[in-house]
Amino acid sequence: MELLQIRTLVLLLVFGTTLTQCKPKSDSDEETLLLLAVAASKICVNNSYTGTTVVNSTATLDTNTDCITGMTSSMSSDLPAWIRNNFKCSVGTVSGSNYVFRSQNIPNNKSFYFGSTSPMYVALAGGQKSAGNNQIASQCLVYTIPSAPAAKSGTLVGTQSGYASVGITVNGLAIFNNAAAAPDTLATEAQTFDTFNGHPQSSGVYHHHSQPLNVTNNDSKLIGVLLDGFPVYGLNCDNATTNTGDDGAPGTVGPALDAYHGHTANTVLFPSGIYHYHFAYDSTATINTLIGSSFRGTPGTVSN
Ligand SMILES: [Zn+2]
Ligand SMILES: [Zn+2]
Repeated sequence: MELLQIRTLVLLLVFGTTLTQCKPKSDSDEETLLLLAVAASKICVNNSYTGTTVVNSTATLDTNTDCITGMTSSMSSDLPAWIRNNFKCSVGTVSGSNYVFRSQNIPNNKSFYFGSTSPMYVALAGGQKSAGNNQIASQCLVYTIPSAPAAKSGTLVGTQSGYASVGITVNGLAIFNNAAAAPDTLATEAQTFDTFNGHPQSSGVYHHHSQPLNVTNNDSKLIGVLLDGFPVYGLNCDNATTNTGDDGAPGTVGPALDAYHGHTANTVLFPSGIYHYHFAYDSTATINTLIGSSFRGTPGTVSN
């Protein structure tokens, strides 16, 4: 183990509680993540596969890949076109009946949370608040996501069950659930989102609960895939045409959304229809979020 990693773990062990308390509005699952980081000395399943650790002070955007320099970005040729042609800033492969994504999880947008010495730093905008001392840090997230998702029968699996992430965006970033630490709602925590609607939790995992603004901005674009294999889209449904003039809110285009932010409708990428989630109002969060309190399908696994 690198000396730096040991020091980080020791710091987490000693100051874990304090760090969490420093953060004004933490996610309900972030304490779990912190404990996982402390308990597991090897938190990276396949480090070499995801490339080098990205350091904030030297992080720059690679204009060829549109990912941070040093990030690995490749999609294997046996992945379906909807993934191959839309996902980047992670390594995507097929493994049996699953898709596997490995991501260093560094945003390809500027953020306050890179820290002021980073070329990727940008100040917060008016009305935004800092999430304590949290800063973006390179991760080793590995997602194993079913390639043939199906609606689950019986009791659904909650999205607040200690997952390191509940899905991955098209630009390789973690998706977090609709919760914040009680008694706050995510609406309060949203004050700490940066100018692209993301923020890091206490161990540096940058994530989106809300629409990633350099992927979608109140439109019908594909945002990513959730852990159960169903895709997640922006605010609007694309009406199965590339013309954006006929896009509209779910319910106007396609059936109304269910309690899990989803419906089955035809989309450009899935002309014969698929269940998919939308960035939509969430009664728990009291703001729009990327996922509700339960997965509609059976979630795969994620490690970090
Ligand atoms: Zn969060
Ligand atoms: Zn839709």
